[in-house]
Amino acid sequence: MHPDFPLPDVTWEPTREFWASAARGALVITRCDACARYVWYPEPPCRHCGGNQLTWTRVSGRGSLFSWSVVHFAWIPQFREQLPFVTGLVALAEDPAVRVVSYIVDCPPAQLRCDMPLRAVFRPLRYPGVAREVMAPLFAPER
Ligand SMILES: [Zn+2]
Repeated sequence: MHPDFPLPDVTWEPTREFWASAARGALVITRCDACARYVWYPEPPCRHCGGNQLTWTRVSGRGSLFSWSVVHFAWIPQFREQLPFVTGLVALAEDPAVRVVSYIVDCPPAQLRCDMPLRAVFRPLRYPGVAREVMAPLFAPER
């Protein structure tokens, strides 16, 4: 566990570019150089063709809600202040088979619906007792 837990480790090589892009307000996903399909989780080989070269590619940030969970209890104490919160799987517009895990924000949990259109919004992740913050792509209803 790194010292700024539960913040993501933005220096970890497989996801370093994801967080660096989020800090610039861009959502990026790896794409296979050989077959051009999006590949997520961002680690070779490509699940479609076995290609070993993946390139970070900016996507629109639009997607739809595939599934979600409303969290009412914090097993990890650093999450207590934000209860209740919603974590979800967002199917990206570019390829709905690519599903990104994030917080779903700006929507009362009772109004969440399968397939509702969402868009990425970039907000800092902050946790009590952790001095740093990390900009992250969260998802909010498309209005
Ligand atoms: Zn491929």
